[in-house]
Amino acid sequence: MDEPKLGERNGKSPESRETHASSEYRDLVDTLRNLETGHLAIVTGAGISLASGVPTFRGKDPGAVWNHDVLEKGTYSYFRSDPVASWLWSSRIFSELPAARPNPGHVAVATLGRELPSRGGRVTTLTQNIDTLHEQAGSDDLIKVHGTVDRARCASDLGCPNGAPRGSVPISDIGIDRFLADPSVDTLPRCALCEDLIRQHVLWFDEFYADHEDYQWLRVQETIRTMDVVLFVGTSFSVGVTDAFLQTALMRGIPAFSIDPSPESSLDGLTTLREESESLLPRLCEDLGLGPLELG
Ligand SMILES: [Zn+2]
Repeated sequence: MDEPKLGERNGKSPESRETHASSEYRDLVDTLRNLETGHLAIVTGAGISLASGVPTFRGKDPGAVWNHDVLEKGTYSYFRSDPVASWLWSSRIFSELPAARPNPGHVAVATLGRELPSRGGRVTTLTQNIDTLHEQAGSDDLIKVHGTVDRARCASDLGCPNGAPRGSVPISDIGIDRFLADPSVDTLPRCALCEDLIRQHVLWFDEFYADHEDYQWLRVQETIRTMDVVLFVGTSFSVGVTDAFLQTALMRGIPAFSIDPSPESSLDGLTTLREESESLLPRLCEDLGLGPLELG
């Protein structure tokens, strides 16, 4: 057997690895190579953060604890009816998020978002995740359509600057530790400006994308209208916004790819790549000649 040449990995050059890749993968590589000035929409969901130890929202992974009561408790009406219980519940299910660190999939998404535009293309990255792993990996200009765990906001609907439609405050500023040490109505986080309750800065199930400017709903709609290719990563299509991207892509007949190791179903017009995003996306960047893949 010949010795592998310098620069070859596992005895195979990138070209030969690609030759042996699935036709779906080759299709994705060719589509992004030919993007030119086109608009790529990257839509990520819980699956991309699984390798970082973040439990999925509705997934089948053992950590998918949110399944049990999320539809009842992940609501604004629950917050309004029992804010103490709402903060205790959300603090428990969000508790693992701040300690999580990005995996190679997040880093590759940041690389695509940074490098494809330098070749003339346009990339819009949207995530359903409320963790901060994309930002930690270096994605800027991100659409966090379901809000973010590292901020909170005033619950007032009377136009307080700390609340909707555009205000928020860092979670570290609201005294959540004091509340968690002694949870009661008296220790609930309160707005420094108007003394109304402080709420989580996330889109609850009984709320609307247009409720807060940080969800960037206008930009979501513009992306859906103008995208030329859509790449779904670790998402199940069960959430409204993902379905809107998918249905529009199918209707307009534009290339649509989904990276998902265990898809629930297959759809005509959607090319599914059955692999973990943390291994596929870095290889994709390498095969496109993008990189280096670096954190931040
Ligand atoms: Zn306020």
